[in-house]
Amino acid sequence: MQEKDLQLETRMIHSGYSPAEHKGSLVPPLFQTSTFVFDNAAQGGRRFAGEEDGYIYTRLGNPTVKALEDRIAELEGGEAALAFSSGMAAVSAILFTLAKTGGHILCSQGVYGCTYGLLKLMEEKFGISHSFSDMETPEQVEESIRDSTCCIFIETPINPTMKLVDLKMVADIAKERGVPVVVDNTFSSPYLQNPLALGCDVSLHSATKYICGHGDVIAGVAAGKADFMKKVAMSAQKDIGGVISPFDAWLLLRGIKTLAVRMDRHCENAKLLFTYLKEHPKVSSIHYPGDPEHPDFHICEKQMKKPGGLISFTVEGTKETAQAFMDQLRLIKIAVSLGDAETLVQHPASMTHSGVSSEDRKKMGISDTMIRLSVGLEAWEDIRNDLEQAFSKM
Ligand SMILES: *Cc1c(COP(=O)(O)O)cnc(C)c1O
Repeated sequence: MQEKDLQLETRMIHSGYSPAEHKGSLVPPLFQTSTFVFDNAAQGGRRFAGEEDGYIYTRLGNPTVKALEDRIAELEGGEAALAFSSGMAAVSAILFTLAKTGGHILCSQGVYGCTYGLLKLMEEKFGISHSFSDMETPEQVEESIRDSTCCIFIETPINPTMKLVDLKMVADIAKERGVPVVVDNTFSSPYLQNPLALGCDVSLHSATKYICGHGDVIAGVAAGKADFMKKVAMSAQKDIGGVISPFDAWLLLRGIKTLAVRMDRHCENAKLLFTYLKEHPKVSSIHYPGDPEHPDFHICEKQMKKPGGLISFTVEGTKETAQAFMDQLRLIKIAVSLGDAETLVQHPASMTHSGVSSEDRKKMGISDTMIRLSVGLEAWEDIRNDLEQAFSKM
């Protein structure tokens, strides 16, 4: 049976690893080593000269990390993938590889807070500018691309308002203009959305979230064309050095095996939660791409397998009302991050988006009464009951 004939759920468990090559070990072994011993001096020379395959030093490559990278490439439908020490290490390695002096980066409206921080740093220190676009229509995208645009960076769904960007629409325009498109695919995981199949050039993740799925690793991954990924590996990854540790790569390989079943359950619980919140008298608005009334529902239907496990909603009242509601929750934990087995709740205005000015928050559609839930894997009734008891105290 050829690997390409297998379903995605099966490839998550089997691809990129052969027990026969590792003394029959069912699970990829953990190569927790910083360096690799050469047979002789000449071999070391050949490895450094690139004349012989083989490992040298873990920052330049490690078999456990390679197994993870091969599996990610397979899941994203990319020719190659790289793993990093954090999602931000992945974002910065990709952006530094694509950026040019005097260049411009075009972003979707609302990117992850630290991505925003990185863009500001690139502007202030290196003169690489950026701008944001709603990317709602082809005209908007056309108009926002400049001659100096060296990359388009898209996050979809956008946190925490869950707006979507039509990836194929942007990729088609970008291709004509010769501009590479990078997608932060964290919110969907490779199971729900495949930007490369839609014509984008790089798909990256904070693997800390759904790919790990257990809240015990900080890591990042990126997938794309082999020659581009090689360029990233030989420059930004190797020389800036944000490489993943073998142990974290090993934990991610373990997490990925259950990605499909976890995502199905996250999505199922989120859908039930949406129906519950939609009817709730104390909820004033709800942001979930699976809502038929969501302005981007048609994009969700087209480019996502399912609408994902994140929901934002607003309550009547003030910031204090929202915070008091959160303080009543017992099972649901107050924490940023997402994609864990535990249902997590956070308050964007005072937490993840507190660095954004209140004026910009308003523009982005983030109100002081907005609450974001990362729906976990618990029994749905228990999640609902916890929310209900907190609502009843409002
Ligand atoms: C968490 C997150 C990041 C940053 O990832 P780290 O692993 O925390 O460095 C980037 N993008 C999105 C959408 C995220 O949720």
